[in-house]
Parts: sequence; structure tokens; C-alpha cells
Amino acid sequence: MTDSHSEFSSDVDSHADAPTIDPDLIDDAVDYFIPGEPLVDTKAPSGPIADRWSTRKFEAKLVNPANRRKLSIIIVGTGLAGASAAATLGEAGYNVKSFCYQDSPRRAHSIAAQGGINAAKNYKEDGDSVHRLFYDTVKGGDYRSRESNVYRLAEVSTNIIDQCVAQGVPFAREYGGLLDNRSFGGVQVSRTFYARGQTGQQLLIGAYQALERQVAAGTVTTYARHEMLEVIVADDSSGQRRARGIIARDMVTGEVQTHLADVVVLASGGYGNVFYLSTNAMGCNVTAAWRAHRKGAYMANPCYTQIHPTCIPVSGSHQSKLTLMSESLRNDGRIWVPKRKEDCAKDPREIPEEDRDYYLERIYPSFGNLVPRDIASRAAKYQCDDGRGVGPEVDGVRRGVYLDFADAIARLGRDAVEAKYGNLFDMYARITGEDPYEVPMRIYPAVHYVMGGLWVDYDLQSTIPGLFVTGEANFSDHGANRLGASALMQGLADGYFVLPHTIRDYLADGPFEKIDESHPAVVEARTSVEERINHFLTVNGTRSVDSYHRELGNIMWEYCGMERTEDGLKKAIDLIRTLKDDFYRNVKVLGTADSLNQSLEKAGRVADFLELGELMCIDALNRRESCGGHFRAESQTEDGEALRHDDAFAYVAAWEWGGEGEKPILHKEDLVYTAIEMKQRSYK
Ligand SMILES: Cc1cc2nc3c(=O)[nH]c(=O)nc-3n(C[C@H](O)[C@H](O)[C@H](O)COP(=O)(O)OP(=O)(O)OC[C@H]3O[C@@H](n4cnc5c(N)ncnc54)[C@H](O)[C@@H]3O)c2cc1C
Repeated sequence: MTDSHSEFSSDVDSHADAPTIDPDLIDDAVDYFIPGEPLVDTKAPSGPIADRWSTRKFEAKLVNPANRRKLSIIIVGTGLAGASAAATLGEAGYNVKSFCYQDSPRRAHSIAAQGGINAAKNYKEDGDSVHRLFYDTVKGGDYRSRESNVYRLAEVSTNIIDQCVAQGVPFAREYGGLLDNRSFGGVQVSRTFYARGQTGQQLLIGAYQALERQVAAGTVTTYARHEMLEVIVADDSSGQRRARGIIARDMVTGEVQTHLADVVVLASGGYGNVFYLSTNAMGCNVTAAWRAHRKGAYMANPCYTQIHPTCIPVSGSHQSKLTLMSESLRNDGRIWVPKRKEDCAKDPREIPEEDRDYYLERIYPSFGNLVPRDIASRAAKYQCDDGRGVGPEVDGVRRGVYLDFADAIARLGRDAVEAKYGNLFDMYARITGEDPYEVPMRIYPAVHYVMGGLWVDYDLQSTIPGLFVTGEANFSDHGANRLGASALMQGLADGYFVLPHTIRDYLADGPFEKIDESHPAVVEARTSVEERINHFLTVNGTRSVDSYHRELGNIMWEYCGMERTEDGLKKAIDLIRTLKDDFYRNVKVLGTADSLNQSLEKAGRVADFLELGELMCIDALNRRESCGGHFRAESQTEDGEALRHDDAFAYVAAWEWGGEGEKPILHKEDLVYTAIEMKQRSYK
């Protein structure tokens, strides 16, 4: 079935028909924050949407090549967002310092991305266009993203593919030699470029090679195994505040170092590991972003979390990590559960066709198994809550649904399925001991990605002048739900094509007044890092850092996970506050500061996760509507779908740090749509 409505209006009823929210109901979080001034994106361009990015590029000031050599840039992060920015800015002639905590820039978490990267190339001639990618992304994000940003993302998506092909990224090709495409959730065209199930790895190798080329050329210096622990925000003699550097710890020697520059870019990835169990790499954390937040960078929509529907189910409390089975599998796999509860423990191959419920195909006939992630995840939860989940019972409930390739194997043959998904099938078999060519995979939703992040304007600049934020670390483009294969697109768009233009507008006023290590802002930042390290090492309590992290994760999953309620969120805030208090008094961190010390590294990260977790709950409590990945049980349609309240919540919630033990301050940036009409989403 196709989208039955006119070209760009496939949603049902205009959202103007949604019930108006009772003013008494929008005060859930009133005791937890201080209202702040409205926030305006002063860089947001106006005019026809298709011209806005060209206009901004033209209006942004230029830096001539000779002057670029006098300007220095620190980039924290070497994933797709950071490596692409470092390579491009190095190539442009700036002096770049590039930091990561892994042992090599090319081991950044982007390497884990499996399924693909979107671009509006329309190679399949199936009706795709820049405008359709723009439209799908805004709708997929449940009308909680900025339309100017999303349009720009769709516009530059086509350049990304050309750039990567030129670098030699081995995208899958069709028989005739053209690049192949497949579909991801929330769309009805095929626009996802891929390299088997290792797209992130191949893209990162491309970006890494470009980065290393600049290292050889002398424009970029890399600092692997260095963890940024503070941002330096300094006033110059005229009182102008700017981000001027970072404090980093050499993770091998323990040395605390000061690095100064004209501008700082954070490309430090997402914070899904606040949930402890997630599909993210174990090292992913919020420290870089959170330290910046505490220095004045607003944190936007922190509660918007993406829960991915196709992950290997939790098998027990021994786990510290969950594994994603790429969304690309939903192109050919069919999702089902038994119709009858009594069949749930049976061998699935013994359950006849008429006793299976292909519930996504049944409920959402237009999009079927390719509904967006938030919808597929909730639907799986409901089947399991209803007692029709499959797989072993964990805590008395079977939390799994089948992802079945029997039809695809019968239709395409095993070899064709293996060619497309072989490495994913092998991974599944190694982890579960089951052969997915023979028995359906079992999957269940897990935390995967965060749409929230540091607030940035259209130029990707945070509320701290001179602090730019790219990739998953910023909040900008995905609204309340990210469509599959759009994170790689955003990271590379930011790094290769957006930041290099917008950062020059800022740098054109540089080089900025020299500061050195004796500047009070540098001394303050360095001292606070050293005191924190010292504190963790001297508490000498009785509980491991991991035990706190696991407990925080349980709280977040239980009360700020797939479904959120007022009571649950209030309870979570209390629990997190108590846990944080205990953490600072009772954590045990072994080892010393002047050596490799993973327990110490984790202590700092968990301390920041505890503060972030509280803010996420406050943000979720404040937003008494359901949108995308944020599902408030109090706000749903009669058939259980997310119900937005545009009258009350069509804004970006940008949170300012209020001070130690103080309430955060909420600034609202209104979301205004001129090129798209806001509607109640429907994938039926
Ligand atoms: C299993 C999995 C599969 C995915 N598959 C896809 C997919 O198919 N398509 C898609 O579009 N998206 C996918 N995603 C999402 C996507 O991979 C990420 O959103 C994206 O790669 C993030 O890139 P990034 O450059 O912003 O951050 P990352 O790749 O996470 O890089 C962060 C960098 O910051 C550094 N860093 C962080 N903090 C510090 C610090 N304090 N000091 C120093 N360095 C620091 C790290 O060392 C690292 O270099 C997937 C995600 C997961 C978990």
C-alpha cells in the first residue's frame, strides 16, 4: 500500500483538531525548575526554505587563507562528526587539535553503525527528493525539530555520498554498477546507502584517512587516549566571554593538561549510556557535554531518547551492553508474535501462519514493518505487556518478538539474504547460539540514540560563544524521534559541509586576545578537575562505580524509558537525588590518579550521568505530551498512539544550569513551521 494522501500531506487530521490541553495539566514540573527568558535562534535565516542555507553561507564572513594559519581549533571527538570536521578544517588551513578517549581516532563509536546513511539522490527513481527527505524527517521527528535545519540536512545529504565515494568508501552497488539503496523506517522510498552491515565503519575509515592526511600535512595534531574533563570559558579584557580551550587528562599517564585555542568544537557523541544498558559502546558518556552545560551551554530536549525496536533481548542481570540488530533487517524480516498466549513457549516453526499476528502489518498497513522506531518499539512492548512475548521469561515476563526471514529466504534464496545481512546474522548466531536462517530472530527494544543534546543555533554554536557542537552531541535536527540512517547523515553533514562554513563567521573576528595558563578561567578549570579527581580517589567508600551506574540505569529505564508518567518521573527524581548523594559519600575508586585508571574514568562519567538523569526526568515531567520517543501515558489517542499538544509544547526546551543544588532554568524556543503543516502523525 502507498501513502494515500497528497504528496506531502500523508498524515491524517490536522493537529489543530487535537484536544486543547487543560492549562492545569502543564504544571507537572513547576516545582522543579525556574522559568527563564524565551530563547531565539538569532542565526536562523528567513526567506524561502530552499534558499536559506545558500543565504547563510553567503552572509557568513570569510577568513582568508593566510589568516587561517593564525587560528586554532580544538575538536573533541573523532567519530564521523568530529573526524570530518577536523579533516575539512585542517584542509582549509586552520590549526586543529583533535581529541578522543579511544586508543585511535578510528575507534570512535561511529564505527558501530551498521545499517546505512540516507541521501536524497533518488537513484531508484521512486519519487525521492530533497523536499521529501526534509518532509519525512520533520514528520518522523513528530514536528519537534527546526525546519530550517532539517531542510539544510536534506539539501547537503547528496554531497555526502559524493564526498564519501571520492574517498573510496565501498558502498554496496547494484549489478549495473550504480550505488544500491534500501529502505529504513518511516519512509516509503529507498534512499539508504550502505556497506553491508558495516556502514559506520567504512564511513569512519574514509573520514579517518582524510584526517590522517591532514596529520601528515601538519594541520591537525591528534590526541588519542585523552579525555576532556572541562571546558575553559574566559572573559577577555572587554568582558567578552568565549570558549577558549579544554582541560584534558592523558588517560595513560594521568597527566592533567591545558589546551588553548580560538574556538572549541564538541563532537563527543550521545549519552544513551545514562541507561546503563544500551546499544552504545561502553565508553559513550556525557562528560564533555555536561561539563560545558555546567559552564553555560544549554541542554536541549534531554528527555528525547530513541529506543530501537530491533535489539537482542536482555537475557539477565550479568549484562553490561545490549546489541543492535540493524533496522535494515526490517526491509525483509517480518515481525510477529503468537496470537495465543499459550503458544508463546512453542518452537515458532510449529506455529502455523493463521496463529501468528504480524501486528505491525496489521495495525500500520501503509508502512508495515517499516514504521518509525518509536512506533515499532511501543508496539513490541504492548504485545509483551499483553502476555504474547516470546523467548525466556525475565522477571516473569517474556520480552521478545520474532523477526522472521523465512519468507525472504523462500522468495530471494538464502544466498541473497546472506549477501545483504550475512554479518548481522553471524553476530546474532554468535550471541544467542541460535541460527536465524533456521529459527526467527528474537528482538526487543533497547536504548539506542539520544535526540537531545546541547542546544545550538543554526550555525551549530552553543549558548557559550566560541563553543560549537556537532553530531549526536547537539540536539538540532531530529526532533523527538530520529529516522534510521539519519545520524550518520547528520554527523557528516555537520562536519564536512555545515560547520566549515559557519565557524568561519565566528573565526573571522579572531585570533582572539591571547590567554595563558595563569588566566583565572584556566586556573579555575584546572583546579576543579584536579579537585574532582582527588575527591573520587579519597572517598574510599564501599560501592563500586558500576553498581551506581547500574542502579541509575534501572531507574531511568523504569521511569524515563519507553513510557513515562507524572508519578513515575517524580519518583525517579527522588531516587536519583538519593543515589547521587550516596555516590559522593560512598563510592569506592581504587588505584591512583597518575596511571591508567578505568575506575576513576568511570567515576567522573557516572557523576555526570547522575546529574543528567535528573534533568532528563525534569524535562520529561515538564513535557506533558507524547511526541516521538517521548511517550507520556497521560497523553495518548484512543488507540494508544502518541498525542502531541502543539498548543502547549511546540517548543525546544533549552535548560540552563542553575548552579550546584539549584533548580535548572527553562528557556523555550518556539518551533515555527512555514514550509510544512503540523499534523497528527499517522503511519496507518
Ligand atoms: C549499534 C549502533 C548502530 C548504529 N547504526 C546507525 C546507522 O546504521 N545509521 C545511522 O545513521 N546511525 C546509526 N547509529 C547512530 C550513529 O552511529 C551515531 O549517532 C553517530 O555515529 C554518532 O557520531 P558522532 O561523531 O556524533 O559521535 P561518536 O561516533 O560517538 O564519537 C564521539 C567521539 O567523541 C569522543 N569523546 C567523547 N567524549 C570525550 C571526552 N570527554 N574527551 C575526549 N573525547 C571524547 C570519543 O572518543 C569519540 O571520538 C548507530 C548507533 C549504534 C549504537
